[in-house]
Amino acid sequence: MSNEPPEFWSCLLEEACVTASDAAFPNEVSGIIYTDATGSFANLQVFNGISSETSVDASPHEVVEFAYWLQSHHCLPIATFHSHPGGQEHFSKRDEALQLWASQHVIVVRQQDSWKCMFFVSSL
Ligand SMILES: [Zn+2]
Repeated sequence: MSNEPPEFWSCLLEEACVTASDAAFPNEVSGIIYTDATGSFANLQVFNGISSETSVDASPHEVVEFAYWLQSHHCLPIATFHSHPGGQEHFSKRDEALQLWASQHVIVVRQQDSWKCMFFVSSL
């Protein structure tokens, strides 16, 4: 993972990811970062679901609804997002399944009472 933000990254996106991570603390939270065909913006959609301090599963109902919303608004998923409230700075074995959703990944890691955004590009 890297501290180097991808092209789509912005202060607003960082704020959205940190706010969602904080709201779910001490549990994990997950979502999808999406953009339109022109790539002129990137927004975060957070999913409710089942979460613990070490895992998160997005509600299938919300994911399906969001997929239809993306399609009707001509938007595309560009990155996954989830938090690591336990402070792990690595892409876990369980996280590997996220590569099926997008090739870019944002993980918000909690360290010393603050949040750090980290980035990972997968090769699938
Ligand atoms: Zn993870």
